[in-house]
Amino acid sequence: MSTPWIACYWSFHQRLRFPGVKVLVIGGGAREHALCRSLSQDPAVTALHCAPGNAGIAQVATVHPVDQLDGTAVTALARELSADLVVVGPEAPLVAGVADPLRAAGIPVFGPSAEAAQLEGSKAFAKDVMAGAGVPTARSYVCTTVEEAAAALDAFGAPYVVKDDGLAAGKGVVVTSDREAALAHAASCERVVIEEYLDGPEVSLFAITDGTTVLPLVPAQDFKRALDGDEGPNTGGMGAYSPLPWAPEGLVQEVLDTVLQPTVDELRRRGTPFSGLLYAGLALTSRGTRVIEFNARFGDPETQVVLARLETPLAGVLLAAANGTLAELEPLRWSDGAAVTVVLASEGYPAAPRTGDPIEGLAEAEADGTAFVLHAGTRLGEDGAVLTAGGRVLSVTATGGDLAEARAKAYRGVERIAFKGAQHRTDIALKAAR
Ligand code: AMP
Repeated sequence: MSTPWIACYWSFHQRLRFPGVKVLVIGGGAREHALCRSLSQDPAVTALHCAPGNAGIAQVATVHPVDQLDGTAVTALARELSADLVVVGPEAPLVAGVADPLRAAGIPVFGPSAEAAQLEGSKAFAKDVMAGAGVPTARSYVCTTVEEAAAALDAFGAPYVVKDDGLAAGKGVVVTSDREAALAHAASCERVVIEEYLDGPEVSLFAITDGTTVLPLVPAQDFKRALDGDEGPNTGGMGAYSPLPWAPEGLVQEVLDTVLQPTVDELRRRGTPFSGLLYAGLALTSRGTRVIEFNARFGDPETQVVLARLETPLAGVLLAAANGTLAELEPLRWSDGAAVTVVLASEGYPAAPRTGDPIEGLAEAEADGTAFVLHAGTRLGEDGAVLTAGGRVLSVTATGGDLAEARAKAYRGVERIAFKGAQHRTDIALKAAR
């Protein structure tokens, strides 16, 4: 038999045996909407489900009202759907160990085990891994008493950086020059990490890994503070853009060599291999690149812009990570253009978000291909109206030939949307687009 004949027979056979990929995404924010949107555009995906999802995700996937923190329920759903791949989006289910029963059931899952997710779940654990792997990060102390915290604050001096050790949805970090405020935050947490202040611009770099091979994605920058000019409290993120025209050449390779690969190798060496998405939050300081934090999942809102630029169909990439075959994957393809996302948040976010208000203008924002709207905190009301249902409500995203064009389109989309008390930053990607 000639080689082409074998190849043809094999591909026919494969198609019969693997008619397509059925995917279940866990989560219900704009990150999961971005993942679902990309997966829905992948011709290999024949069925797309999401639990619990939201009003926007329901337009591209079948949603299921399953508790995302309940590993037994998620595994039962994956079995019922005959899912070929489960993608766990948020940190809470990962840290709660939702990936573990899925793996035990033999279902390919994109996302780390509970043990490996401690890289995000405990800042003290992350610091220990970094020390073991020789990864550059801020010097730090782990403190459990106010006396220890006071001593650590004085050792580093202002500005003070105080981080709740556990998960806090991006809101457990206080950076301040007010010693009293720093100490008060430390006192309100059971265990804190107090560390030296890192100056310099921040970069988010994601990598997909199967525990051995590490595939970096394109860098992005997010905007953590609530108000323009980086004022106001820390939030889960108010917007993002990619690429970063100001980033030094060779940054991705440097971070791969000095941060991502050593961390993945160290976790494997410790017997807690990390498979899924490794997120490095970096500061480009005057003394070199330093890790601010690791996350164990796609970042929100950076995912919205990174996936908007990814041209390689997503399902095969996530499946290769889940199956341990990333080394065999072809290099990822990216658009040369830019993407910008602007978060529309509800009144009172992040302290006390107001919910339940109808959202107007969703279709108008997407008209003429200006932007696409990814839902974060939304739900369908009884009359079918889309209502606000969380602090971050929408992520209005656009692509363009360059950042200026993508930014203009994203803000044009934002202007068409209205709900009571809506707030957003007006300076997302502004400096970089100039
Ligand atoms: P994290 O949750 O650790 O990413 O922290 C949230 C935000 O706090 C970061 O994006 C930074 O803007 C800021 N931050 C955290 N650690 C430091 C640090 N060591 N120095 C300066 N800013 C920091």
